[in-house]
Amino acid sequence: MYAGSDDLGAAAQALALRLPEPLRPLARVAYDYGWSWTPGGPEVFADLHPGRWRQCGWNPVRLLQEVAPRVLQRAAADPAFVERVDRLAGSLAAERRRPPYDGVLTPAHPAAFFCAEFGVHSSLPIYSGGLGALAGDILKESSDLALPVVGVGLLYRTGYFHQRLDPSGWQQEYWLDTDPERVPAALVTDDDGSPLTVTVPLWDDTVEVQVWRVDVGRVPLYLLDTDLYTSDPVQRWITSRLYEGNRALRIAQYAVLGVGGARALRAMGIDPAVYHFNEGHPALAAFELHTHLRGVGLDWDEAWEQMRRRVVFTTHTPVPAGNETYERDEIIPVLGQVARLTGDLERCLAVGRLRPEYAAEPSGLTALALRASRTRNAVSRRHGEVARDMWQPLFEVDRVEDVPITHVTNGVHLPSWLSPTMRRLLDQHLGQGWLRHADDPATWDAVQDIPAEDLWAARNEDRHVLIEYARKHAVRDRLRRGESLDYVQAAERTLDDGALTIGFARRIATYKRLHLLTLVPERAVRVLDGEQKLQFIAAGKAHPSDEGAKRIVQRLFGMKHYEQVASQVAFLEDHDLSMAAMLVRGCDVWVNLPRPPLEASGTSGMKAAANGALNLSVLDGWWAEAYDGDNGWAIDGDVSDDDEEQDRRHAEALFDLLEHEVKPLFYDRDEAGVPQGWVRKVKHSLRTIGPCFSATRMVRDYATRVYPADAT
Ligand SMILES: *Cc1c(COP(=O)(O)O)cnc(C)c1O
Repeated sequence: MYAGSDDLGAAAQALALRLPEPLRPLARVAYDYGWSWTPGGPEVFADLHPGRWRQCGWNPVRLLQEVAPRVLQRAAADPAFVERVDRLAGSLAAERRRPPYDGVLTPAHPAAFFCAEFGVHSSLPIYSGGLGALAGDILKESSDLALPVVGVGLLYRTGYFHQRLDPSGWQQEYWLDTDPERVPAALVTDDDGSPLTVTVPLWDDTVEVQVWRVDVGRVPLYLLDTDLYTSDPVQRWITSRLYEGNRALRIAQYAVLGVGGARALRAMGIDPAVYHFNEGHPALAAFELHTHLRGVGLDWDEAWEQMRRRVVFTTHTPVPAGNETYERDEIIPVLGQVARLTGDLERCLAVGRLRPEYAAEPSGLTALALRASRTRNAVSRRHGEVARDMWQPLFEVDRVEDVPITHVTNGVHLPSWLSPTMRRLLDQHLGQGWLRHADDPATWDAVQDIPAEDLWAARNEDRHVLIEYARKHAVRDRLRRGESLDYVQAAERTLDDGALTIGFARRIATYKRLHLLTLVPERAVRVLDGEQKLQFIAAGKAHPSDEGAKRIVQRLFGMKHYEQVASQVAFLEDHDLSMAAMLVRGCDVWVNLPRPPLEASGTSGMKAAANGALNLSVLDGWWAEAYDGDNGWAIDGDVSDDDEEQDRRHAEALFDLLEHEVKPLFYDRDEAGVPQGWVRKVKHSLRTIGPCFSATRMVRDYATRVYPADAT
């Protein structure tokens, strides 16, 4: 029983008082995100009151707080509904009772998974993109495997920005506040019932930090928060925004995550066997662990060695700019106290430098994390090669293959990403309990025997759901932008639920090269033309300060004056986890065009593949190890130093594939209207990608190859 479970229990009990007796089990369910990936779970809340469910942002605590008493009474009087509630509550309770995974981790000594963002659900807006989605998937899969893990992150009061495009297609940002009392979180209290707090020494002061607990199935996620009304406004702001733009505040944020996180675990009586730093942001925890060991009498080197034996590090960033560094004049005013507590401020700065002996070099969290960890891993095979090359100077080894960075390729949490339709189809054919063996290729053999028309019917159903969603979304987006009513209404007639649908959705970072779609407008228009219809749905946010990325969105938006573009291309505003789920479930082809070798892994293509989409991607990140010549389409992943030439060549390659291979295969139908060749390819994609890129495989890899103390 980890700290805070009574607090969550009390919150659920308070919520239950609002509910009629037969619905009371629903209150506990609302405080455990396990409902979100249990089949039928989301439907229970949706069926209670579909309109309100949407209005509440799919947040079950808010729903139960806000739904009218007469709606609750009506549901409580429906025996079938009450039975569904009992079944859902029973299945989540049974999950919590399962014995833990047999391995080096135990409930008394779990792995503490630290990350700056967690994408657990769209109702908990503390993530921005792929890193968060992955962290959320790792917690969910750990829960499914009953692996003893606790998560440590930050509770951002305003989180990440929301996106809106103005009539010229320029991105505008706005932020919404999250009230922690209305999300499925409870403040962790100590023995006397007052909120448990720890302090983090920052600037010349100490900042007080409180801790919220969110349950992700069996896995507790602890979220640190400096917004105490007794603190001053700057201190309260530290955990306000994800990836805060102010550098000094961002350093403070990393200290709260790392130092505050390690202190909070100790205060809650949790003694991790392993501290897993997911990306460099939490690496300041190393100093806190080190300081603690110094306190029991070890000298600097012994303490460093003992600390290092418990730390593992996953790097996600093959771009030097993503591995931020700071000048000593920026660091010392904020972190001086943290560093001095270790007994040697200069050494603290030195371990964050690529070359410790160069005092003028800036320090960064990635270098610190690489030095402070006993195992380090990249997130795909190719990213492993890139990371070894990039960090060779730090390890001072002669041969790049001797750089001690391995890889654990990312994977996705299938129960979260599979559409209900696809889940039913796979449940029916892959056998009871297949998800527990999702990482075994043999589990997926039965895909071969799914009748082509059934698989095709599932694909059609999921495309239909997506097109309906995209139309409604486009109408709302256009209304908000103040477009003419004709143009607003045209959105209801755009897109076609029988047409080949191409998806591109992710953070609009420059290296993701969304601009390839508009680079050769005449090719884009030609591929959209013709009897055999092809349509694009795109989505994604540009970082608020990334003007280049915003221009790319604007250029895509500007193509709407072409007739085909207006009816066959949709850009959906405000991409988040729930939109991502709609898109990966409904698209036929998932496109990814990173500039090689800058894609560490990419995971959205795995989500799409699990739902029976085919990938068309540059051979970079995960696709470089997944593509087998037959399970999708590929564009070369060679590194080039002529960006413009490469862009042009890749744009041509993309449109060649779409025009000459993708379209003809999709529209080659038998008498029954089934594209047999396409379905064969989909089956092959499911069988080759399903097992290897599941989170089951990924989390088992961490459990067996990274977390054991003798792992290297
Ligand atoms: C899966 C996911 C991503 C990852 O996108 P990639 O470009 O494949 O890395 C980004 N954002 C959201 C919301 C996701 O769910």
